[in-house]
Amino acid sequence: MPHRTDRREIPPTAGLPLQFGDLYGRADPLPHALAPFLGTADALTTCSGTAALVVALRALASISERREVIVPAYTCPLVAIAVAHCHLQLVLCDTLPGHFALDPESLQRLAGPETLAVVPAHLGGCPVDLGEVCAIAHAVGARVIEDAAQALGARHADGTPAGMAGDIGLYSLAAGKGLSTYEGGLLVTRDANLRDVLHANARDTLPQRFGWEFRRSIELLGYGLLYRPRGLRLAYGAPLRRALRRGDPVDAVGDRFPMEIPLHRLGRWRQRVAARAAKRLPAFLHRTRTQAMQRRARLGALPGLRVLDTPPGAQGTWPFFLLLCDDAATRDTIMAALWTSGLGVSRLFIHALPDYADLTTILPAATTPHARDFAARSFTLTNSPWLDDARFERVVRQLRAKLSG
Ligand SMILES: *Cc1c(COP(=O)(O)O)cnc(C)c1O
Repeated sequence: MPHRTDRREIPPTAGLPLQFGDLYGRADPLPHALAPFLGTADALTTCSGTAALVVALRALASISERREVIVPAYTCPLVAIAVAHCHLQLVLCDTLPGHFALDPESLQRLAGPETLAVVPAHLGGCPVDLGEVCAIAHAVGARVIEDAAQALGARHADGTPAGMAGDIGLYSLAAGKGLSTYEGGLLVTRDANLRDVLHANARDTLPQRFGWEFRRSIELLGYGLLYRPRGLRLAYGAPLRRALRRGDPVDAVGDRFPMEIPLHRLGRWRQRVAARAAKRLPAFLHRTRTQAMQRRARLGALPGLRVLDTPPGAQGTWPFFLLLCDDAATRDTIMAALWTSGLGVSRLFIHALPDYADLTTILPAATTPHARDFAARSFTLTNSPWLDDARFERVVRQLRAKLSG
């Protein structure tokens, strides 16, 4: 076990920390404040990324008879829960080998006249190229919902914001995913007709709920207070260590979700807090991107370790590095040494969707070997600026030892 020399805990992702000045004062409406990142001032705000997906799916289902939704077999379990919540039929598509992107050949086989939507995801702020996915989906008359939950501010190679290349895009404003309202989300589309359907659906689906808004406002204040290296030992590190001692990695990364999805409007105060914080987002993303470019090279030079990268010309947001070992045993050795080190080493989703015991009631049978293999060999390293150079070098030394061991 690594020796802990201080009481700091580096978060697993580079979230934008709040400042006191974010809590009060004037602010543009959140969709306006985010227009530079989204390419539209017309975004719809929701109480979570999951709620955004629920609204998108209900909207599409209201104008179509189709009932199947194709999702990558390696993605956030909340995506599967949202599809089930809408009483739509989940279809799991395998990923490319050694990647989280949808495998176009598998997608081609699964897409058809029943396909309502395909939901590709840009994990770790890394925009995947959607050319083939859109072509396959549109050829069968299905829509593409871009899951940019982890990619607010990322751009495709042609400059299109990640989230605006498909028919509908969604983002998450959950704690730790960059800009945060503690829980929150956004929906975008370039299609004027779809926008009207989305807005109408959001009005029905997301009523004002004072109880929920009060709770989330307190949680946002707590996030503002504790999202710093000392506070995170209490808020993140302690529960993580407890879960790992229990032998429960799913709980350790917060992958266990209730089947009930809170659905309500995102309150004005929380929107203003995020709108004020958003002013610092360009400088923050510039800083984390610059850091990522330097560290990507160091990590990529380690033998037996692959850094998942953006396609040529695309721009990622790099909240963390998504790293791939040659085999699961090496990944597990690394996690045993570093998961509780406080240095921002973690895992993304613990399993491929078919392997979550809690989801078996809502999942169809599927064999998705690449997604399972990706879950078994991958892990993450934070790109938070709080991981300073000295700490980063400590991680590199440990990784090199485990990779060559
Ligand atoms: C977090 C996440 C979601 C859900 O967003 P919430 O705001 O947490 O509801 C959906 N998809 C992906 C890929 C995510 O990482």
